[in-house]
Amino acid sequence: MPELPEVETVRRGLAPVMEGQVIARAEVNRADLRWPFPERMSERLSGRRIERLGRRSKYLMADLDSGETLLMHLGMSGRMTVSGDPLGVFTHEHAMPEKHDHVVFHMENGARIVFNDPRRFGAMDLMETARAAEHRLIAALGPEPLGNDFHEDHLVAAFRGKNTPVKAALLDQGIVAGLGNIYVCEALFRAGISPRRKAGQIAAARVAGLVPIIRQVLAEAIEAGGSSLKDYRRADGELGYFQHSFDVYGRAGEACRKPGCDGTVARLVQSGRSSFHCPKCQR
Ligand SMILES: [Zn+2]
Repeated sequence: MPELPEVETVRRGLAPVMEGQVIARAEVNRADLRWPFPERMSERLSGRRIERLGRRSKYLMADLDSGETLLMHLGMSGRMTVSGDPLGVFTHEHAMPEKHDHVVFHMENGARIVFNDPRRFGAMDLMETARAAEHRLIAALGPEPLGNDFHEDHLVAAFRGKNTPVKAALLDQGIVAGLGNIYVCEALFRAGISPRRKAGQIAAARVAGLVPIIRQVLAEAIEAGGSSLKDYRRADGELGYFQHSFDVYGRAGEACRKPGCDGTVARLVQSGRSSFHCPKCQR
C-alpha cells in the first residue's frame, strides 16, 4: 500500500504534466472504485485547467479552474502511469489500454495519465475547492506531519492521558495525518521507543523528540522517491513505488542497526499489523 512518501512522489511526478495544464478529455471507464464516482465526472473534468496539484495526507488534490477539486486516492494497488509527455520528462509511447485502466486523463499537452487499480480500493471524488477541508475523507484528519501544525506541543497534548500503545496513537489519523505502518515503525526505532509503550506514559521530552524524527524519516523517503523519479525516463512511466531501505521494517531476525546495540529485530502483531522493533534498544 502506498504510504505518504510514495504519494508525494506520485504528486511530484505528475505535477510537471498536470499543473497549469488542461485536461482535454477525462475518460472514465466505470461507475465506481471503492465508492461511486461523482456524477458527470467526465464532463466536470474535461476541458478544465488544473491550477494546482497538492496533497493532503495520502490524497492527491487537483484544484481545477472550475472551482472544484478532484481528490484522488491510490488505495491498496492504484498506479499512475504517464506517457507521451511533450516536456520530455517521460518519453514513453502510449501503452495499449489495460484491463484495469479505470480513469485516463488525456491532457491537451499530449500527455496521457492512466489510473490503473486492479483491486479497486482507490477513490476519486469532486468537491468545491473552498469546502475541501469539510470533505468526509478530509475533515477528521490531523495536521500534516511535514506541515507547521505538527509540532512538539501538539503531539505532547495529543498523547497526554492516552492509554493506547504509541504505535496505535501515531497511526491515528486524527493525531497526525498520513502516517502508515512502515514509517511509524521506523520513527519509533530511531526514537528508541517501544511500539508497545502506552502513549500517555512516555515522558514529554521523548514525545517531543518524535516530531523531528518523524519529519526526518519521511523527508528521507521522499528524497529517495525523488531520485527514483529520475529513472522514469527509461522505466515504464509508472509513478510512486521505489526501492527504499528500512532500518527495522521487514527485517525480523536481523541484527539491530543501532550502533552499539547487539539486539535482534523482532516482529509483533498489534491491531492486526506487524510492528518491527528492537526489543533491546526500544524501551
Ligand atoms: Zn537495538
